[in-house]
Amino acid sequence: MSRMTVRKVAVLGAGVMGAQIATHCANADVPVVLFDLPAKAGDANGIVNKALAGLRKLQPAPAATKETLQAIEAANYEHDLEKLRECDLVIEAIAEKMEWKLDLYAKVAPHLRPDAIFASNTSGLSITALAEGMPAALRGRFCGIHFFNPPRYMALVELIATAHTDPAMLDQLETWLTTRLGKSIVRAKDTPNFVANRVGVFSMLAVMHHTARLGLGFDEVDLLTGPKIGRPKSATYRTADVVGLDTLAHVIHTMQATLPDDPWHAFFQAPAWLTALIDQGALGQKTRAGIYTKQ
Ligand code: NAD
Repeated sequence: MSRMTVRKVAVLGAGVMGAQIATHCANADVPVVLFDLPAKAGDANGIVNKALAGLRKLQPAPAATKETLQAIEAANYEHDLEKLRECDLVIEAIAEKMEWKLDLYAKVAPHLRPDAIFASNTSGLSITALAEGMPAALRGRFCGIHFFNPPRYMALVELIATAHTDPAMLDQLETWLTTRLGKSIVRAKDTPNFVANRVGVFSMLAVMHHTARLGLGFDEVDLLTGPKIGRPKSATYRTADVVGLDTLAHVIHTMQATLPDDPWHAFFQAPAWLTALIDQGALGQKTRAGIYTKQ
């Protein structure tokens, strides 16, 4: 199998995941261009500044020097799509909404090189459905590339193919992710929320359910489900704040919408308190307000 040369990566979406994936690539000395919605007029560095401000809020913070972060090139979909021509790998990491992703794909598709790999970091939307409207050639170059949060520290990446994905391309991508970014790859089927989130979100919902039933506090549950029993610092509710409460709700919604015959279907609901926090704009670490952090 020939090795893939990734001379430049584009990351679409400078949110919690996109900014960190871009930083991880920059740390591995891979040139990277980070796209987001157009910055406000007069704020040329708005995207990178927003991403950097976001990165500073994260715990653990991605270990990167100021120079590494400054090496990340900022771009927006309105003016800079031509930059995609320079990129061998394009990773989409915008909000977990099928319609938004499809709109963006239609916009970026004409600017992708035919030999570029195009991959979505979706938490669990159908990769096949995301690929549906694409030209046939692009469908062959498209797959799911599911990094975990925080991507610098989490070794796992799920790779998800569709019936159209070129298997040789997927092998090359796996080799690159392993050797260049130090990741461990699990090939997952294109099922709702793939493997890790299907199990992970289910257990998170079970914990939330029992928290209420047993009248426990969030911090009490985190103490019981965190480092004291060998799990990472984040535990259950801190993890939800790190993930982003809106993103968590989207992932729960995917299970609700796509698994009508699952015996646990009625259980795939965001608790009312979670929806209320989202409605207030308290989305977790990224807004400095969430389950723990109040305004
Ligand atoms: P986020 O809310 O932090 O960031 C989303 C980004 O998308 C923002 O920068 C926003 O400006 C941009 N965006 C929003 N609407 C857009 C549109 N219509 N067109 C273009 N850009 C738009 O989200 P995130 O947590 O970084 O999640 C991004 C993706 O990664 C989602 O698919 C999510 O499911 C997935 N994911 C998230 C996590 C996590 O822990 N947060 C982990 C793994 C995968």
